[in-house]
Amino acid sequence: MKTTIRIPLLGLIAVGFILIGSCSDQVPSEDVIELAYQNNQSVTYQEAINKYQKLDQVFDRARLIEWGQTDVGKPLHLFVISQEEMFQPSDIQQQGKRVLLINNGVHPGEPCGIDASLQFANDILLNKEGTGKYLENTVICIVPVYSVGGALKRTPYIRSNQLTPHASGRRGNGRNIDLNRDYAKQDTRNAQSMARLFQVWQPDVFLDTHTTNGSDHQHTITLISVQPNTFPEALGGFLRDTMLPELYQGMEKTPYDMIPYVMFNNQNPRQGITSYLQSPRVSTGYARMFNVLGFMTENHVYKPYPDRVKSVYHFMQTLAQFTHQHSGQIQRVRKKARHQTNQKNIYTLDYKLDTSKKRMIHFRGYDKGEVTSKLTGLTYHDYDHSKPYADSIPYYNHYQPTRQIEAPEYYIIPQAWRHVIHRMKINGTLMHRLNQDTTLEVEQYYITSHDQLKSSYNGRHYHKKVELEAREEKRTFYRGDYVVPVSQVNNQYIIEMLEPQGKDSFFRWAFFDTCLERRDWNHPGNSFEANAIKYLNNHPRLKEQYQQKKQQDPAFARDHQGQLEYIFNHSPWSKSIIGRYPVARVNQGERLSQLW
Ligand SMILES: [Zn+2]
Repeated sequence: MKTTIRIPLLGLIAVGFILIGSCSDQVPSEDVIELAYQNNQSVTYQEAINKYQKLDQVFDRARLIEWGQTDVGKPLHLFVISQEEMFQPSDIQQQGKRVLLINNGVHPGEPCGIDASLQFANDILLNKEGTGKYLENTVICIVPVYSVGGALKRTPYIRSNQLTPHASGRRGNGRNIDLNRDYAKQDTRNAQSMARLFQVWQPDVFLDTHTTNGSDHQHTITLISVQPNTFPEALGGFLRDTMLPELYQGMEKTPYDMIPYVMFNNQNPRQGITSYLQSPRVSTGYARMFNVLGFMTENHVYKPYPDRVKSVYHFMQTLAQFTHQHSGQIQRVRKKARHQTNQKNIYTLDYKLDTSKKRMIHFRGYDKGEVTSKLTGLTYHDYDHSKPYADSIPYYNHYQPTRQIEAPEYYIIPQAWRHVIHRMKINGTLMHRLNQDTTLEVEQYYITSHDQLKSSYNGRHYHKKVELEAREEKRTFYRGDYVVPVSQVNNQYIIEMLEPQGKDSFFRWAFFDTCLERRDWNHPGNSFEANAIKYLNNHPRLKEQYQQKKQQDPAFARDHQGQLEYIFNHSPWSKSIIGRYPVARVNQGERLSQLW
């Protein structure tokens, strides 16, 4: 692809600007930071932070903030660009501006966005091509590097199929967790800092930058968006009918036409590609639960590094422009969506692709053929770069609900489950604490069947299958236990995380595994005899049934162990709470609301 680009080739420009005083009116005429992506170099973690510090020093409209911690012991940074030099999130919300959050380096081996964001910040602060006007309606927040620990493990020997850049970080963070599978369970300090960032800064639009090697085609940049069907209609309709078409059209005006992320049907893109359904463990699936317009760019790993950086740079500009131009509409549809989320009774936990709905998109791919290896001289079957084609292919982007759940009025989480409660809190969930011990009629789940991964996945033994049954029963809760009203903007998060069958629920991620373990070992052995006699004496009806059975069943009458088991099985000793899901569902709001 020809790569004409409107931004200057910064790698070759010496930085001559010296800051004299600090004045927001004084806009430097030359680039403030120097980048080397044109030469296939990606910045190191420390270089990225140094460059943002420099932008912070030069521009009053920019500030580099330390926002919480990461697992490796270094802070998570947030770079904020605010036209009016407001850097308090509450002030920004009062101001009524949209917040665009760009997250980079969740996978530091995919660093295009790290370099592109620096270029983007530099250019918008310099008002290049008039892009400074995007700040009229929008505050731009950039996470320079999310997986700091991963970025520090820098090496040239990452991603063996990647020629450039010459070095980059690794996928695992400071404790080798894949942060883009940690958004729901939030085991890392990185994810917990990000949760607080979402709650405090309240992004309207969110971009997470990646690189993919999952396909081969001619496009440099592909896009994953939140699946429109999975948003409340107000927001999903806006995304499907207005935002996505304009983003794709915007990119057509750049040297990098963009296509949806390429997931094949039947191994061959000519037969169609499908949109990727995002569960809460990934960034956009997480953003979806809070009605945030979430996107992941996936740059194509086989393209030259400068093109990858420039294409995602253009997407950042396109996204900022759209956010600026549709600021009021975004505010309205998000408000409406939050109201719809708040009012719903039925929530969807899972979807399946609707293969009856598709639209045709323009796709430039490669046909497969016999390719001769330059290394071994042997031939193999693969995409043949000498056989490019352009075609119209079907794109499947509709999903239908498959598992739905009726929301209770409240959930109660016993305070014993503090790791869950901590996560509910940092994700902004409104909760009350019981002011006294109380016994309530609840709807109680019992886990009847589950199938857990044998090996650890991202640090936990995930439950692939969860089956349950609901029973009505009385349960006692204690002063200080947590009541979660299901009538708040966080409803989608609450339901998906607390319903055990949610795809990334706390149960799925093994937060509640001890409820599946046997602790009390009751055996109707010989030593049970004394208790058995006492129990029969106190329960004459059972005693009568027992004696009748002995008379009518000679084998039973001769079976010492069988008789002990019979009494045991008809007594509360045999009753088990194994598999009782600790969180209860409650529908008696009147009474409960007196208890906090
Ligand atoms: Zn990635």
